[in-house]
Amino acid sequence: MESNADALARIIAEMSKGMQDSGAAERIAEKIASGKATYSDAYAYARESGRVMTKAMKKHLPTVLTDGRLYRETAETVIREPMQIGAADVIDIAAEIQGELNDLAGIGIQAIRPEINDDQINGIITGIANAEDYASGENTLLQQIANFLEGTVDDCVHDNAEFHYNAGLSPTIERRADAKCCSWCSALAGVYDYGDIKDKGNDVYRRHNNCHCEVLYNPGDGSKRRQNVHSKKWAEDGRAERIATAQRMAEEWKNNKRR
Ligand SMILES: [Zn+2]
Repeated sequence: MESNADALARIIAEMSKGMQDSGAAERIAEKIASGKATYSDAYAYARESGRVMTKAMKKHLPTVLTDGRLYRETAETVIREPMQIGAADVIDIAAEIQGELNDLAGIGIQAIRPEINDDQINGIITGIANAEDYASGENTLLQQIANFLEGTVDDCVHDNAEFHYNAGLSPTIERRADAKCCSWCSALAGVYDYGDIKDKGNDVYRRHNNCHCEVLYNPGDGSKRRQNVHSKKWAEDGRAERIATAQRMAEEWKNNKRR
């Protein structure tokens, strides 16, 4: 059994080494250096970061269990800081890309860095601390960590579009469905006027576990997308249905976990 501090240090060291050795991360860095990166690359980076972090967690968390459980105090020590480090790293990449997109669009505004969502981290820690035992909660925990990192990019998109909107621009946001995702996400795919989806709780910025859909913002292509924008009415039509589908999926997912 490792001490909590040892496990924490090993998780952080492995995350750092994993990202340094990552071919995917290197390709994304090259793309940023060439000035051709988009938010798709930020999502690719978040997914890679999620892969590396969950691998480190899966290896080290089982070494700090007590009676098969990851108690809250331990979870606080070994989970919170790695998640904050991972999120800050993803935000660095997303903000760099946003800065380039701003330059290309001729907008003399610095990229906005979103706040790290500590409420979400709290929820994830509570989830594993309350799980019957670590083994039964592990899959959910790892999915939630990956989901959290991708959500960090969603926040970056939202906060930068918000800033540009308040500055008098007319941002449009594109939600692109991952082909392997679900009907809820397929229905949500499309281009939106930011003004119609300002609220951070809007479905456009939501992702369920295992959702790798992308929410893209490019301040440079507002006008060419304009003819293709979903009307506000569309966004509201079918909303109840999408929520019902998501709830059904969440139920099914929970039931599958129980078996
Ligand atoms: Zn999805």
